[in-house]
Amino acid sequence: MKYHVVTLGCQMNKSDSERLSKVIEDMGFVWTDTEDDAVLLGVVACSVRQKAIDKVYSKIYKWNKAKSKRNLITFVSGCILPADRDKFLKQFDLIFQMSELTQLPAMISQYGIATPFRLNGDNDFHLPSIESKSDKIDFSAFKFDEKITFAGQPVMMKKPDKKIESFWDIKPIYNSDFEAFIPIQNGCDKFCTYCAVPYTRGREISRPSGEILEEVKRLVDNGYKSITLLGQNVNSYGCDKKGEEISFAELLEKIGKYGNNCGKDFWLYFTSPHPQDMTDDVIEVIARYNCLAKQIHLPLQSGDDHVLIRMNRSHSLNDFRRITQTIRRLIPEATLFTDIIVGFTSETDEQFENTYKAMEEFRFNMAYIARYSPRPGATSSRWDDDISHEVKKERLHRLSILLQQQSLELNKEMIGREYKVLVIQSDKKKGYLSGATEGKIIVRFASDEQNLTGKFVTIKITSAADFATEGELLHVFEEEKVNITE
Ligand code: SF4
Repeated sequence: MKYHVVTLGCQMNKSDSERLSKVIEDMGFVWTDTEDDAVLLGVVACSVRQKAIDKVYSKIYKWNKAKSKRNLITFVSGCILPADRDKFLKQFDLIFQMSELTQLPAMISQYGIATPFRLNGDNDFHLPSIESKSDKIDFSAFKFDEKITFAGQPVMMKKPDKKIESFWDIKPIYNSDFEAFIPIQNGCDKFCTYCAVPYTRGREISRPSGEILEEVKRLVDNGYKSITLLGQNVNSYGCDKKGEEISFAELLEKIGKYGNNCGKDFWLYFTSPHPQDMTDDVIEVIARYNCLAKQIHLPLQSGDDHVLIRMNRSHSLNDFRRITQTIRRLIPEATLFTDIIVGFTSETDEQFENTYKAMEEFRFNMAYIARYSPRPGATSSRWDDDISHEVKKERLHRLSILLQQQSLELNKEMIGREYKVLVIQSDKKKGYLSGATEGKIIVRFASDEQNLTGKFVTIKITSAADFATEGELLHVFEEEKVNITE
């Protein structure tokens, strides 16, 4: 019995898919890269972008057509707006929220009794028995809510009665054996006017810190080198459980202490923080511990205060400036990444120029620049999308050119220096591998030794381009590689 899942959207959806795979494979299904071989076909959808929704419809149209030839079950989950949910219900066999993932075997089992195709008289289709496998997934309600110790510190373990917590309890099947993402919260309370996430994922809920720390430890024990804490608004971690749960800075501190004592080498990242919650104690703790990666992705979105207010970003340009000054003072080697939206509804030329000036001032190593497009369900989708396509394109082009220049200048400063690099994959350039520094700057180097993938190496940078550097391999950090066995 084979399954195939199409994952759309952001890193959070990709991380969700890793837990989804675990539940499906525990039922006896085996992954296939080919949709035509699968009897279970699903989409982890992103309802916040129209392009992604169009893709969902094109997939389900094809799959529903295939149902006339073979028996299959289709499902959709992920970030889905209420309006899309009703439409999807008519197209897919199953629709569920990630927080209901542990109930998927029961849902599929019911469809094994009555799929639309079976109702047409086919009797040769058998779904795996879930009873024999269900012991691998804990369906039971949480029975305890206690403090345990981690690296000698007390931490919260579980809180009862939250469906999302049973989702977090699932041990994912990671897509890589050296890079992993750990969800630390779900939902968002910020309600930026251009964003639909609070309506698809709901309000913020923090995952118990004990579970996060256990997952970090398990990954590090198994040789993972790059671990990213994931959330829509990671640095407000714990705010929904004030007085019961630790803060984001305290969570980082515990991981930092663990990193100091575990005898293994790893880099811990987080994404995305919100400037409003980027307190000095978060920056101070990153500066203190080696394993906390010196790379910070801090979304600016606009360099104009008036636009920021209309975006409901709850920070000003000055707030952002103060945070970057603290980062530069306490962690001078840190790289700074950001997100920018151009052509937000009613953005004037002058307001755009303020964003341009902010980009010049902050000298980001990387910026993900997007043209504004209204997202169904978000507040701003009710406002006029009154900046023409051409103007948005021109603004995006200007910022991209500036980013390119700045990235080249910053990368040139790396020439002649030695960097520790995590080797990630074969490069497009034949005979080369590519990897990333702790600051997530791409480094290429000549080598065709595939067994270097997933290892730390030392590279001396010899040349620089915009968005990448090239260098010479000096040293390989040898370490026994262990695979996760759970
Ligand atoms: S902080 Fe704003 S942009 Fe980010 S998920 Fe929340 S509402 Fe969306």
